[in-house]
Amino acid sequence: MTIYRNMRTIPTCVILLLVVTCRHVQAEDTEPKVEDFGTVIGIDLGTTYSCVGVYRKGHVEIIPNEQGNRITPSYVAFTPEGERLIGDAAKNQLTTNPENTIFDVKRLIGRPWNDKSVQHDIQYYPFKVINKNNRPYVKVKVGSGDKVFSPEEISAMVLSKMKEIAETYLGKNVTHAVVTVPAYFNDAQRRATKDAGTIAGLNILRLINEPTAASIAYGLDKSEGEKNILVFDLGGGTFDVSILTIDHGVFEVLATNGDTHLGGEDFDQRVMEFFIKLYKKKTKRNLHEDSRAIQKLRREVEKAKRALSSQHQTRVEIESLMGGHDFSEVLTRAKLEELNLDLFKSTLKPVKSALEDGNMKTTDIQDIVLVGGSTRIPKIQQLVKEFFGGREPSKGINPDEAIAYGAAVQGGVLGSDEDNKTPDLLILDVNSMSLGIETIGGVMSKIISRNTAIPTKKTQQFTTTEDDQDVMEVLVYEGERAMTKDNHILGKFDLKGIPPAERGEPQIDVTFEIDVNGILTVTAEDIGTGNKNNIVIQNDENRLSPAEMEKMIQDAEEFAEEDRKVKEKTDARNELDTYVYSLRNQINDKNKLGAKLSAGDKSTIEKVVADSIKWLDSHEDASVEEYQKQKTELEEVVKPIMNKLYTASGDGKKEDDSSHLHEDL
Ligand code: ADP
Ligand code: MG
Repeated sequence: MTIYRNMRTIPTCVILLLVVTCRHVQAEDTEPKVEDFGTVIGIDLGTTYSCVGVYRKGHVEIIPNEQGNRITPSYVAFTPEGERLIGDAAKNQLTTNPENTIFDVKRLIGRPWNDKSVQHDIQYYPFKVINKNNRPYVKVKVGSGDKVFSPEEISAMVLSKMKEIAETYLGKNVTHAVVTVPAYFNDAQRRATKDAGTIAGLNILRLINEPTAASIAYGLDKSEGEKNILVFDLGGGTFDVSILTIDHGVFEVLATNGDTHLGGEDFDQRVMEFFIKLYKKKTKRNLHEDSRAIQKLRREVEKAKRALSSQHQTRVEIESLMGGHDFSEVLTRAKLEELNLDLFKSTLKPVKSALEDGNMKTTDIQDIVLVGGSTRIPKIQQLVKEFFGGREPSKGINPDEAIAYGAAVQGGVLGSDEDNKTPDLLILDVNSMSLGIETIGGVMSKIISRNTAIPTKKTQQFTTTEDDQDVMEVLVYEGERAMTKDNHILGKFDLKGIPPAERGEPQIDVTFEIDVNGILTVTAEDIGTGNKNNIVIQNDENRLSPAEMEKMIQDAEEFAEEDRKVKEKTDARNELDTYVYSLRNQINDKNKLGAKLSAGDKSTIEKVVADSIKWLDSHEDASVEEYQKQKTELEEVVKPIMNKLYTASGDGKKEDDSSHLHEDL
């Protein structure tokens, strides 16, 4: 079964961005406190293979493992002797120990047990996956007994292996890393990946999106002006297409697409089936009946496939594969392509869909980045090139190392090494939904808009809506719609003990602060008394899922016109309302108009104010025009009186208090 992912996903917590300089953002927004983390390594924690790199002496080094391989299988195995193997050693004994060799946990991490894709995938694993607290756990034999591990624990083992590879190479301990995740990973998946780091004794300083890391590897962040990049990542078992836009060094994921079950292993499988048939014809033996033979063949087939990326033919040889019969067959590049042509071609469909989602034509893409081991296949390269009208993809970095390369560059920014050389870039996160509070009439008052670089801090002043209001309820929302009823509530709190005052008088500062980890703190402070209260909202707490966010953004576009009308009406009402009450407060205030007005004028204003309040109470749902008309009529009475007052006082300075607008809470 093939599962297509065709949503235009926005990661729940953050979209990773990259900024070359601080040109567009306030310095205090972009410079988190510098701490010494030592050398920070970059890890591409892949579904089938992982890769580790480090930024040293001004450049990136991809670190080979103890076998000399620059990529390490994301495999963990438990032997009957009670030994634990990770990486090549684990993958190499898969044949003899299939039930206790764990792979593909990236497909399980951060997902609930009843997740459709979990239920689909576990049917095909040779190892056991069980339900524990509605989460998938793997069950293995360790020595004599059974043991269950969470996907985080297995990933932690892979991460410790990568950490160890780096430590051996660098000759010192490493404690911090930058780790990459697919752009479509949601909060839970990102959090679980971070937890895996913690279990491995590795502090994951940043999780960055795989396509962003790949683009950084190619230095695409260095280009001036806006451009679009398509990242084509075909790995062992997954295919991810991402379209990123980069504007003055800032990256944003515009669209993601792909096929969660397409990759090098499927190509291996096609060759396997071909050989199994051939073997049956020649020896009358069915390899399907011998799992050890199948696994042996799979290993050799993968090797042959890799070889065919650089040569035109190779021989697959396995001594006494089954029942004493040897296996020896030639495999040509042409045959490999013939067996897989439909699969190869199927990669173009998600590319098309991603372009459609991003509203783009092939010519709108300035850079094509090929990532993932399977993009080494010449036919794949040719298909992509043809699709883009003969344009060459970015070249120069091994596609299976590009993501780790980018992560290492980012590690270089965050860490320090002996030479203290840091790459000239800085990755920033942005908040993916607008954040604000509800103000009078159910209006969403945005305080931090979507895509603002974090960390950030913004303050706006609000006031009361009732006379002698002593409590203010602060309702915190995320969302793009004009009215809070269409947005998503994140939390609420009360600011109590506001001293008695007329409505509109108290000054309440509401501050939204998002820290580097996406944690939002909302504080309300009564300026008069210094009284404060706040709420802290974690970036994964009660937040919208990527699908919900996507819907919200679509709705915001779809209902833009409707929202605008509702908002116009609420604004018109609020304007009149504020004007009326502000007038009332001023004529009652002995330090303001109260003292200056003649008794006659005062009572004229008092009357129109009272009438207007009555009118407002009986017109909950009037039209914009009616509210405006009401305000004009009120102004026609009030303005001449004001003008008279100022001409009489002779200072010519127009006191503007009567039209001063507070944002009412
Ligand atoms: P992941 O999917 O875990 O991110 P990679 O991007 O490293 O993994 O891709 C692994 C896949 O790439 C495997 O299926 C492997 O067989 C394939 N691969 C690696 N090198 C080559 C090559 N030279 N030619 C063809 N396929 C390759
Ligand atoms: Mg990968």
